[in-house]
Amino acid sequence: MNKTKITLIKGDGIGPEITEAVLKILSAAKVDLEYEEAIVGEKIYHQNSSSGIDEAAWKIIKRNPVMLKAPITTPMGGGYKSLNVTMRKELGLYVNLRPSVSYFPVVQNSPKIMDLIIIRENEEDLYAGIEYRQTGSCFTSLKMLTKEGSIKICEFAFEYARAMGRKKVTCMIKDNIMKISDGMFYQAFLEVAKHYPEIEHERYIIDIGAARLACRPEAFDVVVTENLYGDIISDITSEVAGSVGLAGSANIGKNYAMFEAIHGSAPAMAGQNSANPTAFLNGAILMLEYLKMFDKAILIKNALLKTLEDGIHTKDLYQEGISKQKIGTNEFADEVIKRLGQKPCILKSADDNTGNCQASHANEKNLTEFCPQRYDNFLSKNSACNLKTLRGVDFFIDYNTQYSEQLAQQIQQAMEKANLHNQFSLSSIMSRGLKVWPHAQNTQPNKTEFCDNWMCRFMLNLCQTHSTNHNQQVAQLLDALGKDGLDIIKMEKLYVFGTVDGFSAGQGE
Ligand code: NAD
Repeated sequence: MNKTKITLIKGDGIGPEITEAVLKILSAAKVDLEYEEAIVGEKIYHQNSSSGIDEAAWKIIKRNPVMLKAPITTPMGGGYKSLNVTMRKELGLYVNLRPSVSYFPVVQNSPKIMDLIIIRENEEDLYAGIEYRQTGSCFTSLKMLTKEGSIKICEFAFEYARAMGRKKVTCMIKDNIMKISDGMFYQAFLEVAKHYPEIEHERYIIDIGAARLACRPEAFDVVVTENLYGDIISDITSEVAGSVGLAGSANIGKNYAMFEAIHGSAPAMAGQNSANPTAFLNGAILMLEYLKMFDKAILIKNALLKTLEDGIHTKDLYQEGISKQKIGTNEFADEVIKRLGQKPCILKSADDNTGNCQASHANEKNLTEFCPQRYDNFLSKNSACNLKTLRGVDFFIDYNTQYSEQLAQQIQQAMEKANLHNQFSLSSIMSRGLKVWPHAQNTQPNKTEFCDNWMCRFMLNLCQTHSTNHNQQVAQLLDALGKDGLDIIKMEKLYVFGTVDGFSAGQGE
């Protein structure tokens, strides 16, 4: 029988050491896999590639549906893009599944009860990596969420909960501040929840949610959240369990799946034989479950748990008086191998979870087949509540002053000169989201401490909202202000969808 071929990426920093340890364990457990290595990461970045992946690597990655990938170092600055993010997007890996479990009492400070899964959206949010420096002092990053992406990840979370017999799905967002973007994510969550009446659903604002995950993890079951929040809270829960060196992660899409540790390449630990290979091994175990190699997954998981339970710990977990032996990465792998065939006595054995393998259900067709027709109303771009009407435009202007009044006067004069004051009115000026003109609420009206990025809101006069030539009107305004020497660095059109504003009000507006 042909062996299953997977892509292997050995990674940077501690990557090669933990890869060697994991491959040694897989080989000792006689896991029937063939590895095709793709070279990506630091070596490729330093050959002047901003992506860290070349053509040869893409060919390998695209021909194997499954990948085991050690962490990669993203060089700082210099326009380098994270290849992890590129791969997740290019391969459509929209789900990031991150289980966190308690290792108590083997790890003394692990919570007594914790058995939760974080399901993190993996393609959108601030990870679009769309950033701009707009002025001398102002730097921005664009947070992008889509209805489809949000519905897809929430549906996955509920399908997963149903398949795994989990009881509750918690949505974590920050919709008290980001009412439009995070507010939409939460609406998507509620839309999906309607189809799963047997599963309890709840919502937490991410800040208190993260705090509760750290202090009362037993209260959570399945958590679904956006990309950045998910990254942060899964590091929290893994560290709370004992170490970021413990938790594995599955990145899953319709056609590809990639398995890894949740942690990064820890460059300062590289070459010291001191990294904990458990997280990467847990990633590999998720992969074996996904490939439906359940016997091997259970064999290796039990040996790993028994090793931890026997007090054989790497530096990150070692506790004086509790641990029995402090050992290195490579020796840890040998200890796991020695215990293949044994079961843990204190920690829950992997075969107690029969039918409960973390990633196997994610490989069932129904979990990665998204059902958009269920959410027609929410998703339809043509329904009454989605029909959009232009109401105005925000121009972000680079202008070096402390006085918004001065800017307002210049704008109004330029509009009059170009005869545009009948079409638009300057309704407000905002500084970093706070309305400063007219009627600022701070103690020194219309003066800010520093600002060179002013958001100037122009509303179309009512008789103009039915015009069909809005682009031309906006272009005329842009032109008139530009000719007057104003540097417009960014523009956002202001739409109303049905009766709901598609733009935020300024603080104090
Ligand atoms: P990191 O996760 O690499 O390391 C943070 C700290 O966690 C380390 O200093 C170490 O104390 C501890 N740690 C991490 N892995 C451990 C292990 N296996 N055993 C014991 N302790 C461990 O985070 P970072 O330092 O912020 O990032 C380093 C590099 O990794 C960056 O270039 C970053 O872009 C990259 N990164 C890659 C991935 C990935 O490939 N999926 C994920 C996160 C970060």
